[in-house]
Amino acid sequence: MAKGEKPDIRDFSLEDLEAVVAQTGERSFRAKQLAGWIYGRGADSFEAMLDLPKPFREYLKNHFKIGSGAMATVARSSDGTRKLLVRLADGEAIESVIIPSREIEATPAGDRLNQRITLCMSSQAGCAMACEFCSTARMGLHRNLTVGEILSQVFLARRELEADEHLTNYVFMGMGEPLANYPRLLKALTIMTSEWGMGISPRRITVSTVGIVPMMERIATDIPVRLAVSLHATTNELRDRLAPINKRYPLEVLLEACARLPIKQRERITFEYVMLRGVNDSIDDARRLVKLLAPVRGKVNLIFFNAFEGSGFTTSSRQAVEDFQAILRRGNLTATIRESRGLDIAAACGQLYAEQAAAS
Ligand code: SAH
Repeated sequence: MAKGEKPDIRDFSLEDLEAVVAQTGERSFRAKQLAGWIYGRGADSFEAMLDLPKPFREYLKNHFKIGSGAMATVARSSDGTRKLLVRLADGEAIESVIIPSREIEATPAGDRLNQRITLCMSSQAGCAMACEFCSTARMGLHRNLTVGEILSQVFLARRELEADEHLTNYVFMGMGEPLANYPRLLKALTIMTSEWGMGISPRRITVSTVGIVPMMERIATDIPVRLAVSLHATTNELRDRLAPINKRYPLEVLLEACARLPIKQRERITFEYVMLRGVNDSIDDARRLVKLLAPVRGKVNLIFFNAFEGSGFTTSSRQAVEDFQAILRRGNLTATIRESRGLDIAAACGQLYAEQAAAS
């Protein structure tokens, strides 16, 4: 933190707020009240917190700021996707994407149409994981986001929603490797999912990781959010190249850990698999994937590769993706195909870098 700068109160858990309250001699219930204003209602000024005593509000105003000064510019896609280019106080830029979708859910009472609005969130500015097909990787890691910066994405996104819209799902699939910024991620997730915080069900939050095994084990015991693992290959030889973290945690280690994770019965880990033409999309790959995932409670999400300048890959054909999916299904694996969204505003997976470069 720069000298003379006030701490961002959105970095504070309930425990931290309790310490602030204790220091001022206020009654302890004020901490929950304050958390309600900051996280529940998303207040952006202390003046608005009218049920707090005036001297306490003054104290807070003199010692803290609300939010880190992040500002968003918004691009809208014809398909309803909205991309927020979020400028941080130090000039770094990250992106969050609002993705409306509809899905048909089979219930005992018949099919139901669900309107979902997913917020795709970033955890770092840039990324150190160096996956070969990802445009963010080309930036390298600039820095970790603070707790307040992670959360600011939710408050900024809410402002861009129509009156009848609200966010239903949250996925850490934007810039960065969430488990490489673990203490801050966990604190942000705790604030998001606590009753005193944002009150979001952990089942509606997915953390996607490239496969940092010890951190996967930690998050699974720390907080019951959903996990997604970016797999992308069925041999160590190929995965070493596509996702170099594989050299540290090779496939057998990763999948063994997945099979042992303490997740609830009926829960499934999502395995993301980017379809790269002629690289990982063969019938043999599909068969190997079935075998690899047999001991794991998992499902597969097949993703069309989004090409970017100089990526060196092209996406598999729709036919190849569907054939691949059919083999997984025959092998008793649930497999879905993720359609690309927001292509006209470069908001699709892996496209977050180009825009950032263009904006700076
Ligand atoms: N670091 C985390 C989360 C960010 S990436 C992770 O690796 O899971 C979110 C997803 O987008 C990952 O599955 C990633 O492999 C995928 N992705 C990255 N670049 C892509 C591209 N160009 N096209 C399609 N998907 C891509």
